[in-house]
Amino acid sequence: MRIALFGDIHANLEAFDAVLADANDQGCTDWICLGDVVGYNADPNACLEKIREANWPVVKGNHDDVASNDDSLKNMNPVAAAALSWTRDQLNDEQKEWLRNLRMVRQIEDFTVVHATLDQPQGWNYVTTKFDAMSNFSYQFTNLCFHGHTHVPRVFVRENRVTEIPAETIPLEAGKKYFVNIGSVGQPRDGDWRACYVIYDLAVGTVSFRRVEYDIETTQKKIRDAGLPDMLAERLADGR
Ligand code: ZN
Repeated sequence: MRIALFGDIHANLEAFDAVLADANDQGCTDWICLGDVVGYNADPNACLEKIREANWPVVKGNHDDVASNDDSLKNMNPVAAAALSWTRDQLNDEQKEWLRNLRMVRQIEDFTVVHATLDQPQGWNYVTTKFDAMSNFSYQFTNLCFHGHTHVPRVFVRENRVTEIPAETIPLEAGKKYFVNIGSVGQPRDGDWRACYVIYDLAVGTVSFRRVEYDIETTQKKIRDAGLPDMLAERLADGR
């Protein structure tokens, strides 16, 4: 069983399609979405419907949350707020209800998935240091947990203490707990513009990161044609 885990798609259809094709080529048989299906980019409908029709397990991201409620956008950063306001106008009531009903945390097979952290899933905390990861590990009851939210692939391991290891191919070892940030499909922020996702191979016991090129010019053109902030198109090329 090879499971593709992807998230922070952020309405980037070209990146999402490229990831699905790559996962298919890689022999993946199962598919899990870690949230933030919408927000930032110009294809919220197509990305949402693809996941909804496939009926893959999904957890809710903060952009899925805000896009599907009527809360004020005043306290958000202006670029994210502009995109969310636009996204709200693109989604129908049924799509918003689907987003609203997404669960925060799911346990699948022998692992857990959450968008941000297990200690406070609705707090949308960012995990960038081992101290952030420690708070999560206190609430992680499976050996393996996948998450996203920061758009930066990262792996923390807890044995006697918590350490960070490179986000490469990881052979899972007994007696250790792993908290794996799978990176972002639709808006990577680690300086690499290519779409990022992870394959978990249960039989072999490995987690591997994949980077996939996609038709970024088309995505950028759609962002500009939609009247979304130009910075959203520019940042995709920079991977920031
Ligand atoms: Zn996100």
